[in-house]
Amino acid sequence: MTNAESSARLLTGTIASLAGAFVVVLAAAVALAFGIMTNANDLEAARQNDRLDAAMNAEVLLRRDNLRTVRALKPLLDAGLPHATLQWSFSLIAERLLEFDGSFLVTAAGRLLAGVENGRPATQAGYDALRRLKPGLPGGNSAGQLPPAGHPPPLPLFSIVNDNGQITSIVVATIADDDIVNAATREAAFVVGYRRATPARIAALGHRHRIDDLHVVTDKPSDALLRRPIPSPDGQVAAWLTWQASRPGDAMLPRFAWALGIVAILLSSIFAYVCRRLGHAAQQIALRERQIQRLAGQDELSRLPNRRTFDRRLDQEIAQLDRKGSPLAVLLIDLDRFKAVNDTYGHNAGDELVRQVAGRLAAMLRIGDTVARLGGDEFGIIMTHLGQPGDSAALAQRILDTLAEPFEVGGVTVSIGCSIGIAHAPQDGKDRATLMRRADAALYQAKNEGRNRYAFFETQMNAALQMKRTVEDELRSAIARDELTLHYQPQVSIDGTKIIGLEALVRWPHPVHGMIPPSEFIPIAEERGLIMPLSEWVLRRACEQARHWPGVKLAVNVSPIQFRHKDFVASVIRILDETGFDPARLELELTEGVLVDDADAAENAMMDLRSHGVSLALDDFGTGYSSLIYLRRFAFDKIKIDRSFLEYMEATGESAILVHSVVHLGRALGLRVCAEGVETPEQHRFLQAVGCHELQGFLFSRPVPAEAIDTLLARESPFAATQTAA
Ligand code: C2E
Ligand code: CA
Ligand code: CA
Repeated sequence: MTNAESSARLLTGTIASLAGAFVVVLAAAVALAFGIMTNANDLEAARQNDRLDAAMNAEVLLRRDNLRTVRALKPLLDAGLPHATLQWSFSLIAERLLEFDGSFLVTAAGRLLAGVENGRPATQAGYDALRRLKPGLPGGNSAGQLPPAGHPPPLPLFSIVNDNGQITSIVVATIADDDIVNAATREAAFVVGYRRATPARIAALGHRHRIDDLHVVTDKPSDALLRRPIPSPDGQVAAWLTWQASRPGDAMLPRFAWALGIVAILLSSIFAYVCRRLGHAAQQIALRERQIQRLAGQDELSRLPNRRTFDRRLDQEIAQLDRKGSPLAVLLIDLDRFKAVNDTYGHNAGDELVRQVAGRLAAMLRIGDTVARLGGDEFGIIMTHLGQPGDSAALAQRILDTLAEPFEVGGVTVSIGCSIGIAHAPQDGKDRATLMRRADAALYQAKNEGRNRYAFFETQMNAALQMKRTVEDELRSAIARDELTLHYQPQVSIDGTKIIGLEALVRWPHPVHGMIPPSEFIPIAEERGLIMPLSEWVLRRACEQARHWPGVKLAVNVSPIQFRHKDFVASVIRILDETGFDPARLELELTEGVLVDDADAAENAMMDLRSHGVSLALDDFGTGYSSLIYLRRFAFDKIKIDRSFLEYMEATGESAILVHSVVHLGRALGLRVCAEGVETPEQHRFLQAVGCHELQGFLFSRPVPAEAIDTLLARESPFAATQTAA
């Protein structure tokens, strides 16, 4: 699975879980709303039930109170008066019982003592009919039985009965609190009343207690909270009280629907927004991943495989060498004059050139071969399936021819060339490191032989490499053992009379090879990472020695590689501190090479140095490509006109004009101008005439050891001899 797929999968996963969360939240909201609604409905239903109970209770209490009016008859009962008298008395107070359809004064055995039914005196038959409706009424089984004193009578105090659709409510009350009346017979007496529960009466009851539409049905209502059974005399239930449920929860529904709708819309918009953002992010991630993948294996600028891919392919090919049987060749290609194009026409032109070179190289390869960009202007080719030994040479020659053709970059035509080093496997080596080292040695050879050619690796090159390594080792120990030495060359006032500065030039007195000039070992030091210790040694020694030469400046050369080192400025400052040398007397000589690669970093380092009081000179001015640009941008104190101008001055008048204008330019920019390599009095006179500030050259002095400088400085006019000779 590719990274892009995995991020896509990650995305779908995220969206799915988001959608899940969204659905869950919505469902929870719906459930909550529904829960609240049903809860409200249930609560209200329970309340309705409570109200119905309360209604019934109130009804019973009211009716029983009414019935108890009959207690007024207790003394008559106690006296055991005859029926007629009782009936007469009962009728008198029965007006209070008008709300009953029938009211009876009976003994515990069910014998009617008195009563009124539908406005007429009641009959025993009337009471018995009522008793059939409600068998538990006084009489029947419990006939004559006295309830134990202090206990409520085991009689239904209230009941509601369904008699074939006619609903009757029956209330029973005792006559006295102790229940016992008629001391003689010890018979208890009860008063029983009934009322027909007509629909109008039931509805009125409901209305009084805020229960809507209270009525009787014969079909069992399905909602247990909305029914009250009304038993028939035989205990069966064929009628129910029911009412209209008031459902406050339902009233909330529209509001909930609105709220839920809004929440759903809100959530979906958030969801859609997040999805879009995620989708966008995933696209970006996939794009980056592709980029990274490509970058990991491919050179971004040239679109060729990069060094890593090259190394991997080479390892693979080497591993297959034995199986395939045919040798392979590694070609290292280094462009000639690439830096010049870069410096003259800018980095964009340089980039374009790299792309075009890559295109030409790629077009020349056979399937199975690899071309890669290994670095700035360096390319590598792996040639597999070499038929005959000359194959690699033939390809190398074709590459030379192809790259010798002019290129069109940024609207100009440029010509470059290349040098090629070739090594073969298994012949020159059977591992990548060896092969690459040997191809590199061959490349070095090709360049040394004058560029624009190819060279095979040969065993003697190894010797040259070996030599280089020996030099490196020796140089390392020479630095460590303090075996290097410094010579100083005076920088002289324009009239040639005063020493105003001394340039430190390093020398290596070699026990076998004699005095080795810097041009021979500085490049090795740069290549082998010795330039920092070497330069620090030079600066330290120069500062120590120049301390004894007050009043003159000390010029020290800085190699571009050293200058680019991130600790360069810090090391200069540290050495100044440690030697106690006055920074204002130190002048560092930089070349244009210092400035081309990372101009911003260079500028920062230069500002830093200047802020410590160190001054800066542009060395070898005129040998680079865009010197004027540097002069404008970077804060130099001085330019040193390269020796080559003076060398050719006599030969070509052009050089003289150039020197003239350079001096003018320098003066115009407020810089001091120093001419290097002054060898003749004519040159001296010319430079004096055009307005140069300082001179340096064999005419005045060669670079000499420190002791000789002591002598020169001690003299009144150090160069009197040379001057008279001139
Ligand atoms: P440079 O900085 O241009 O130094 C001047 C070179 O020109 C010196 O060569 C000097 O001997 C030579 N020279 C001076 N006057 C004349 C003259 O009138 N005629 C001729 N033909 N040559 C003259 P040297 O000492 O061999 O140094 C060569 C280069 O090595 C220097 O060129 C400088 O770039 C580098 N170098 C020397 N010492 C150091 C050092 O300590 N550090 C670094 N990084 N580079 C150094
Ligand atoms: Ca110099
Ligand atoms: Ca120089």
